[in-house]
Amino acid sequence: MKRHAEESFKTTCSYCGVGCGIVVKKNRKGKITVEGDQDHPVNRGMLCSKGMNLHYAMQDQSDRLLHPEMRWSRNHPYQQVSWDMALQRAAAVFKSIIQTYGPDAVGFYVSGQCLTEEYYIANKLVKGFLGTNNIDTNSRLCMSSAVAGYTKTLGEDSVPIAYEDIELADCFFIAGANPAWCHPILFRRIEAHKQANPDVKVIVVDPRRTQTCAMADLHLQISPGTDMYVYHAIARILIENGDVDYNFINNHTEGFAEYRDAVFNVTVEEAARICDVPESDIRLAASYIAAAKGFLTLWAMGLNQSVIGVNKNIALISLNLITGHIGKPGSGPFSLTGQPNAMGGREVGGLATMLAAHRSYANPEHRKEVASFWGVPSISEKPGLTATQMIEALERGDLKAIWIICTNPLVSLPDTRRAEAAMKKARFVVVQDISRKSDTLDFADLILPAAGHFEKEGTMTNSERRISHLSKAIDAPGEALPDVEILCRFAKAMGFHGFDYNNVDEIFDEHCRLTKGTNLDISGLNYAQLKESGTIQWPVPEKNHKGTARLFTDSQFYTPSKKAKFHPLNNPENQSEPLTSDFPLILTTGRIRDQWHTMTKTGKVNKLRQHIDKPVLEIHPHDAMVRNIKEGDVVEIDNFRGTVRVSAKISEDIKKGVVFLPMHWGKILQKDLARANNLTSHLVDPISKEPDFKFSAVEVRKFEKP
Ligand code: SF4
Repeated sequence: MKRHAEESFKTTCSYCGVGCGIVVKKNRKGKITVEGDQDHPVNRGMLCSKGMNLHYAMQDQSDRLLHPEMRWSRNHPYQQVSWDMALQRAAAVFKSIIQTYGPDAVGFYVSGQCLTEEYYIANKLVKGFLGTNNIDTNSRLCMSSAVAGYTKTLGEDSVPIAYEDIELADCFFIAGANPAWCHPILFRRIEAHKQANPDVKVIVVDPRRTQTCAMADLHLQISPGTDMYVYHAIARILIENGDVDYNFINNHTEGFAEYRDAVFNVTVEEAARICDVPESDIRLAASYIAAAKGFLTLWAMGLNQSVIGVNKNIALISLNLITGHIGKPGSGPFSLTGQPNAMGGREVGGLATMLAAHRSYANPEHRKEVASFWGVPSISEKPGLTATQMIEALERGDLKAIWIICTNPLVSLPDTRRAEAAMKKARFVVVQDISRKSDTLDFADLILPAAGHFEKEGTMTNSERRISHLSKAIDAPGEALPDVEILCRFAKAMGFHGFDYNNVDEIFDEHCRLTKGTNLDISGLNYAQLKESGTIQWPVPEKNHKGTARLFTDSQFYTPSKKAKFHPLNNPENQSEPLTSDFPLILTTGRIRDQWHTMTKTGKVNKLRQHIDKPVLEIHPHDAMVRNIKEGDVVEIDNFRGTVRVSAKISEDIKKGVVFLPMHWGKILQKDLARANNLTSHLVDPISKEPDFKFSAVEVRKFEKP
């Protein structure tokens, strides 16, 4: 861009899936600052505390990995090696394992922070050339239930709304999400809209009274795991009162009669008792929805991270379907994405259970299309191992080598002590990352230094399907390389053809071509056009297409019948870990405002540490009193998986019988036992395989020094 005393570069925030535009300014000495991009349609110049301080995290290189390092065995020290040597060793080990045990003995675990081009190349390499579908992403931990929920109701994984629907909605139903802290810029847009239009209603469903509740007209503080009862009770009231859109239901959906029967199995009174909320509040929520001309349902991990996460998604999306509030201005289901490019990963088929551009392994035509596009004989029809399945396969000894890119599973996976034990059994672990502060590094046989977010070019897609171009602003330190270059060099070391790209432009354009003819068709787009326009929402099926703000405006869905689908979910019981007399409290985990994921970036920024500088356990006054716990006391939270020791914060914001721990802290950043996932259950949703982070049985005791 301009070249005066300073240069400026347009990019996108590297944290949450809101996808705010950022202008990075670099002075003559190379020092960078950031500001919100006034021209960006998402944030219009605004940034939250994390985005505003991004330059500190990006510029602090004290913890950066600078050179490839490897050790010949776990008893040997690491030694610095050249890139050639590192990748030759990786290729030799991968070849040998594949030759001896077959391609399913290797796996890749990547990240919703990878750029689309990195995701694309990793998937091409693994599914096309290594011959296994064992590539999963940490997005499995946050949004795979939403992917399955959309697919089951709308026919494909498709977020139908645009952020501009926020300013057109008059009722917001925010369930299992705390956008005030986790998606702050979207929250500010909702807040501003409500301030300007006092009749706008906000309903929050959450076992915790979070900051988001501050602007709510109604907070349904349900018992954890009972969400579906609320959605079904609201549906029942709407149906009984005739506040549903029968024209839409009759012409554009199927399965309504069976759905209605399932919903009518439970009375509103019974649902209120099970959820532990007043029946009148459920009726009030239904009345707000009934009166709405624009109705948005927003949700995040509270729904997704559950052993019945997919069913919760289906039940919530069904509220949009019965009211016909989908494909219309101000209306629709809107899953909030936790990571900046989880959506881009979904487009390239970045999960072990999907192929590029929403294609399916189960469809032989789809496999053939992708194989022929990549010039490989075939794609395996066997879905790959998901995140927690990889841990199980390592335990069994079936998975011998794992390559981990841009994620820190030894803090973020559930039941992390089990994950640690499994990782020790791996024959070969590659960790490709930017930071030495990743707890996962302890297990690496080979460490590959990657370029950071401002140090590479590419694209990402945010929660409203908006693809953004990211410029490179600064050079990577030492010998660190962009992830895409590392993967292409490895592919060549393996002897594969088809990885000779001159730049990321060529990779993006190849990805666009592979989407042709699919529902997320972006074959009308190319890198040069995107660079020029900055952002665009998919689909973009033709040249000079302006992008697509809203899906399903013609009420034609992606199912074979073109009709959206209801599902009779007869038994909305929570299948989570049962509480016992030894472990009578429900542990739920989540995020705090100024930290992100496992803190390898936000943990470096002083300003961000000032908000909450250490992990605390939120506990209800009654639960604290019966355990003789006072504010600030050190407490131990236990179950048969492990222990966490932190201070207690006594608060009426948390429901009685429930305790809350932030998920960010790991062993490296906090020396004591602060890792919430020491305690979390390894149970997963049977369809999405997303772990149940929101419901683990624990006990809490005051910690007395021995
Ligand atoms: Fe970054 Fe999300 Fe904050 Fe926007 S809302 S600045 S994308 S963390």
